[in-house]
Amino acid sequence: MNTEPAPANPFSTPASARLEGRRSRALRLALLSVALVALGSLLWSARRRPAAPDPVVREFSVFDSYARITLWSSPERAEPALRECTAVLAELHRTLNRFDPSSELARLNAAAAGQAFACSPQLWDVLQAARQAYAQTAGAFDITVGPLMAVWGFHRKRDTLPTEAEIQAALACVGLARVAFDDTAHTVRFTVAGMSLDCGGLAKGYALDRVLAILARAHLEPALVDLGGNVGCSTQPPPGRPHFVIGVRNPFATETLLGRLPIVGRTVSTSGNYERRIIIQGKEIGHIIEPRTGHPVSGPAGVTAVTPRGVDSDVFSTAVYVAGKELAEALAEHVPGTGFVLVSGSPDAPELTRVGDLHRLEDTTAPPARRP
Ligand code: ADP
Ligand code: MG
Repeated sequence: MNTEPAPANPFSTPASARLEGRRSRALRLALLSVALVALGSLLWSARRRPAAPDPVVREFSVFDSYARITLWSSPERAEPALRECTAVLAELHRTLNRFDPSSELARLNAAAAGQAFACSPQLWDVLQAARQAYAQTAGAFDITVGPLMAVWGFHRKRDTLPTEAEIQAALACVGLARVAFDDTAHTVRFTVAGMSLDCGGLAKGYALDRVLAILARAHLEPALVDLGGNVGCSTQPPPGRPHFVIGVRNPFATETLLGRLPIVGRTVSTSGNYERRIIIQGKEIGHIIEPRTGHPVSGPAGVTAVTPRGVDSDVFSTAVYVAGKELAEALAEHVPGTGFVLVSGSPDAPELTRVGDLHRLEDTTAPPARRP
């Protein structure tokens, strides 16, 4: 994911190309006067409109990743809300970091096979989002993937690929249907020993919604928030611009973009097998697992989800990466304001498929990129 405030379009035809052919003096004069009129009206509008303030950009690390919050406000006005955002993010990390044995999620994982674990309101709320994600994606998104992440070497390094028997043993401890939730007492119990919850697939998207809500409450819009590639754009665009511009990264050549999406009032998240992967016995293992087969997904190259809620774009990009276009179509139909860009094909000929509500966003996604 790549964010940038200025909507330059690299895919338009250069003006010079269109000027080839007859170059009469009259044409040059006409062009010059058009340019002068354009320049004049630009200067006129610049004089009438007060200069946009420089954005306040706050960057810090969170969730073993980065956070970048951009606001078009004075630093003094932004400061209290920014402090609240960093505090909320730190608190969420303390709650959900399964690798820290003292985090609430790690304590739940250690205890819930024996007895029901009573959740804090914060953890309970995240788990409700995870239950909804599981139901909406027919199990393609499942926070009980913990044992599978372990068996594929994401918790402790391993030198050999897991055997099918190991994978089947892990699968016996996977499936949100095997977790008993008490909706009155707000407790969680594992019905099978060996289960473990992993909120890594939605924590950043959930956190994004919290941050966007804090900024909206403090009347700090327009705002652009990037939490480790989960991007939220306020409904109000940046000063002097019609929308934010979010780049869709080329999963085959991650330093390049395949296109740009003009976005307001939406969040954007991309999943792919290019970001976090490990290599065992020469085989590349992506960090997204198909929870119903127990195997890492190697399917489509990348999925970008655009949707109003941050938790949904985080969940949907992962789930559609697992389950494919049919799920994208179902989600786009049932969740208003949702759309997807699926990237497949090969490095030389990436293929883009658009699904759902992107048309209203005046999609400028490029045709398959010409490689430099
Ligand atoms: P991406 O941005 O590539 O989607 P995320 O960080 O959002 O990556 O999600 C990947 C993480 O989610 C993995 O590292 C793992 O912790 C967890 N995960 C892997 N597979 C699934 C799945 N099928 N459902 C839910 N969570 C998953
Ligand atoms: Mg995700």
